[in-house]
Amino acid sequence: MKIAIHWFRRDLRWEDNTALYHALQGNLPVLCLFIFDSVILDSLPQQDRRVVFIHEQLQKLHLALQQQGSSLLVKYGRPQEVWEELLQTYDIGAVYCNRDYEPYPQERDKSIYALLSARQIVFKGYKDHVIFEKNEVSKSDGTPYTVFTPYSKRWKEMYLHHAPPSYESVEHSRHFYPTSTPYHLPSLTDIGFEALNCDFPSADFPLSLIEKYAEQRNFPAYQSTTHLGIHFRFGTISIRQAVRLAMQKSMVWLNELIWRDFFQSILYHFPHTATQAFKPGYDSIQWLNRASDFEAWCNGKTGYPLVDAGMRELNATGFMHNRIRMLVASFLTKHLLIDWRWGEAYFAARLLDYDMAANVGGWQWAAGSGCDAAPYFRIFNPMLQANKFDPQQLYIKKWLPEWGTSAYAPPIVEHTIARARVLAAYRLALGK
Ligand SMILES: Cc1cc2nc3c(=O)[nH]c(=O)nc-3n(C[C@H](O)[C@H](O)[C@H](O)COP(=O)(O)OP(=O)(O)OC[C@H]3O[C@@H](n4cnc5c(N)ncnc54)[C@H](O)[C@@H]3O)c2cc1C
Repeated sequence: MKIAIHWFRRDLRWEDNTALYHALQGNLPVLCLFIFDSVILDSLPQQDRRVVFIHEQLQKLHLALQQQGSSLLVKYGRPQEVWEELLQTYDIGAVYCNRDYEPYPQERDKSIYALLSARQIVFKGYKDHVIFEKNEVSKSDGTPYTVFTPYSKRWKEMYLHHAPPSYESVEHSRHFYPTSTPYHLPSLTDIGFEALNCDFPSADFPLSLIEKYAEQRNFPAYQSTTHLGIHFRFGTISIRQAVRLAMQKSMVWLNELIWRDFFQSILYHFPHTATQAFKPGYDSIQWLNRASDFEAWCNGKTGYPLVDAGMRELNATGFMHNRIRMLVASFLTKHLLIDWRWGEAYFAARLLDYDMAANVGGWQWAAGSGCDAAPYFRIFNPMLQANKFDPQQLYIKKWLPEWGTSAYAPPIVEHTIARARVLAAYRLALGK
C-alpha cells in the first residue's frame, strides 16, 4: 500500500497541527512517525526531563492513534539511516512535516529532502511553530528586522490581515494508515534514558493568570507567568491558539509571544548567532572565564541571594522566572566576566523550555552582544533587583534555606569592583 508519512518533531500534538492536517487531506493513508534522533540524544545526560516529557507525549499520541485503528511508529537512530530503512520497508508517496528553524534541523531536513527527492518522493514542510516565518515580517526593502519594537508593530499589522487559521485533524481520521496490532513504543530505558518521576506544567491555558499577567509577571515568588514554555518548545500546544487567546486577554502576554517569533526569525536569518555575537565587536571581549566563579554561579553560591535563588530553582525544577534569567545572565557575563556561551550552554542543558532561538537571544541580550540588546554599560545591581522584585524575600527564602545564617557564603565579588572591571573590558573590546 502506498502511504504518506507525517513526521512529528516539535509539533507533538494531535489538534490544530498544520502538516498533519495537510497530510490527512491528501489521498494516501497517513502513517505517523517520530524519530528519537541519536545525534541530539547522544549529547544529553541519561537523566533528562525533556526526554521524559517527549516520551509522555508520544504515549498520548500513540493511544490517540490506536483509537483511530492506527498507531505511532517510533524509531531511534540517525535520521538519515532511519529514513533509508523506512524506504526499504514502506512504499512512501509523500512525507509531511512542520518546519524547524534551528541550524541542525535545517541541515538534517536538507539531507532528508535530497534522499527523498532522489526517489521522486515529495517532502512537504509547513509553518506551524511560529505565526510568521522567513521573510513574512520584513522591512519595506525586504530585509529582516533586527529591532523588536518595529518588528512587533509590523507583526501586528500582518496579523490583522493574515492571521493563520486553525487546522483540525480528527475529523479526517479515516485517512490514517491502519495497523492491525499497535507498533511497539520503545521505553525510555530502551533508548538509554532513566524513567524519572516528573511533574510537568499543565498544557491548559491559565486564563485568570493571563488576565493578570501585566500586573503580576515581574514577581518570581508567585506563579506569575504561565509556565507554558515547555509546551511551546515541543508543540504540545498550538501557538495560533495561544495568540488568539492573548489578543482577547492580554496584550502584554501577546508581546511575549511576539518576542518568541522575533528570536526565531533572528536565528533563522542569522544562524551564526547561535555561537557568535550578533554585534561582531563583542567577540573581542577578553572574558575572565574563571572556573571557580562559574562553579559558584552554577551551584547558586555567589553570595548574591536573588542570583543564587534563581540558580537553585533552575537546578531543582528546570524552570526559572524571566526576571531572574535576565539577572543571572547579566551577573555571569558582567559581574563575573564569563563568556555568555558558557551560561547559554548551562541553561540549554537544564531548562525544560530550552529553545535555542530564545535562549541565545536572551543571553546575547544580557551580554549586550545581541540585536536590540541591553547597552553594554547597563549592569543590573543584584541587591536593588532583589528589593524591587522580591521585596519580602519570599522567593529568596524559598530557594535559599541558609539565607540570613552564617552558613550563607559572602559575595564572591564586590559589586562596584565587578562593575568597573567589566566596563573596562567591554570598553577595550569595543574601542569606546
Ligand atoms: C538569559 C535568558 C534565557 C532564556 N532562555 C529561554 C529558553 O531557552 N526558552 C524560552 O522559551 N524562553 C527563554 N527565555 C525567555 C523567557 O525567560 C521564557 O520564555 C519565560 O520565562 C518562560 O516562562 P513562561 O513559560 O511562564 O512564559 P510566559 O511569561 O507565560 O510567556 C509565554 C511564552 O512566551 C514566550 N516568551 C516569553 N518571553 C520570551 C522572551 N523574552 N523571548 C522569547 N520568548 C518568550 C515563551 O514561549 C513563553 O513560554 C530566556 C530569557 C533569558 C533572559
